[in-house]
Amino acid sequence: MGIEDHVPSGVLLTTVEAIAGWTRKASFWPLTMGLACCAIEMMQYGGPRHDAGRWGQEVFRASPRQADLMIVSGRVSQKMAPVVRQLWDQMPNPKWCISMGVCASTGGMFNNYAIIQGVDHIVPVDMYVPGCPPRPDMLIDAVFKLREKELQWGPIGADRDKAISEKEAAALE
Ligand code: SF4
Repeated sequence: MGIEDHVPSGVLLTTVEAIAGWTRKASFWPLTMGLACCAIEMMQYGGPRHDAGRWGQEVFRASPRQADLMIVSGRVSQKMAPVVRQLWDQMPNPKWCISMGVCASTGGMFNNYAIIQGVDHIVPVDMYVPGCPPRPDMLIDAVFKLREKELQWGPIGADRDKAISEKEAAALE
């Protein structure tokens, strides 16, 4: 299907932000954010043995302003939760989130008052990677699947943040 099928009038109106988002969505720039032991496997993901750079996945950024993929690797403590949310808010759209490991996804073995029982109480999660910890290969696979999904469905904008309910946001307080 060519561009003329999508734009029969021959005129395409869009925004600079939409075009920039479209060009960025196939090449993720993850945020450097390790929270616990899963982060060791996340480092392996970018290291020479697994070398996610073969697919342009490993350009880790230290600033949320330069990142579009948050990999939550490890359990999220109550104390860290507001920081995670703030970093998410500072990332420009379009942006995505991978919950890496059972602790990030559900709290895992840490079913107690100090740990958030799933990072999706704080930020919208696009992909959950199971395991304790997941292998770097699984993270590579998750990024590929995320890319397929986004190429198919298009970028997700700021509206997605509205999916976080007030009840879930209250977990930050
Ligand atoms: Fe650590 Fe396992 Fe939890 Fe990952 S899932 S943070 S490896 S205990």
